[in-house]
Amino acid sequence: MADDFKQLPSTVKIYETDGLTLDFDANVIRCAPYKGGFGVVLDRTAFFPGGGGQECDTGEIGGVRVSAAESIGDVVVHVAEAAVGVGPCFCRVDAAERMRRMEHHTGEHIFSGTVHRHFGLENVGFHLGSEYVTIDTSGPLTAEQLAEAERLANEAIRKDDPIEILFPTDEELKSIEYRSKKELSGQVRIVKIGETDTCACCAPHLRTTGQVGAITIISAMPYKGGMRLFMLAGNEAIKELRRRQNSLKLCGEMLSAKPNEVPDALARLKEAYEDSLRERTGLIFELCEMKLAAQEARRDFRLLVYEKADAKIANKLGDKYCRDVLFFLAVFGSANALRYVMKSEKLDLASCAPVVNEILKGRGGGKKGEISGSLSVPVCELESCAALIYEKLKQ
Ligand SMILES: [Zn+2]
Repeated sequence: MADDFKQLPSTVKIYETDGLTLDFDANVIRCAPYKGGFGVVLDRTAFFPGGGGQECDTGEIGGVRVSAAESIGDVVVHVAEAAVGVGPCFCRVDAAERMRRMEHHTGEHIFSGTVHRHFGLENVGFHLGSEYVTIDTSGPLTAEQLAEAERLANEAIRKDDPIEILFPTDEELKSIEYRSKKELSGQVRIVKIGETDTCACCAPHLRTTGQVGAITIISAMPYKGGMRLFMLAGNEAIKELRRRQNSLKLCGEMLSAKPNEVPDALARLKEAYEDSLRERTGLIFELCEMKLAAQEARRDFRLLVYEKADAKIANKLGDKYCRDVLFFLAVFGSANALRYVMKSEKLDLASCAPVVNEILKGRGGGKKGEISGSLSVPVCELESCAALIYEKLKQ
């Protein structure tokens, strides 16, 4: 069937010279079963069949849904859900999706041309995704260069330069300097955007740079010796900036700060949080010391059980409270994730660890004067477990 379509006269491709005509009249010259639906060929079409990093269009032909369009030689075949009668019909490309793609695609030309012209970098990878555009550059850009490239690209958009489509002869092409990602053969289509960019491309574009509205680089990361940049253009850029404004506004409300004051307010909050964490640790340490002071008279062992303690606090207390007893044992953490730290100046705890772990139903180990690990006996049994450990280790 593909061969059959290929024999038909070349389709007049409206999208090649005019990206904004999306509703059009045409003549159906062939309709035949194709790819589970019907392949429809028109004498002229605004349906872009895909290429240059841009997906094909969808829409309607004579009221019948078109799910895809593709090139077979010079003929554009539309994949329709039902048969369409040969003869005149009204056609419509899905405008919202096509406009979104053209805003992104044209924005990408403007940005890549700007980066090429001002920083000498090539666009070596381009993907027009459903959420954002990615651009891979041939070399690195500093944060300042990236901000400058974004500013210059938006300046080019505000100049509202016409976007020209050229079909130069082989001879004319030799005198044109243009960006291209691959070796081209046959008629080369050049997209020229004022002084900003000249690039070989087959996809539909807007008529002027101003129609892009704005571009914004939402994030950037190092990638294969260059950068991978995430870009939004047109309506999607405005929508994303609105989402971010709303997030910032919510943060501001929670911090009782104006949106522009959020970073300073967050820095103050972080400082206050760190201060209170330090204060909390100090208070826990003091409380643990009070608990241990009550055991001052003990000469067998000292046991500290406090869920809010941690390994750092237990270690520090252990150094002080293991001196005149056989060992110091601290247990902390939540009931289903208890941890222990054990310290001694008199025992080789590394070799005692199996006995300790067996009694505490735990796992752990360490060095001569200090072992640590997890345990699973209930908190209420810890006093008797510690006494048992003492009995086993005192010989
Ligand atoms: Zn293009």
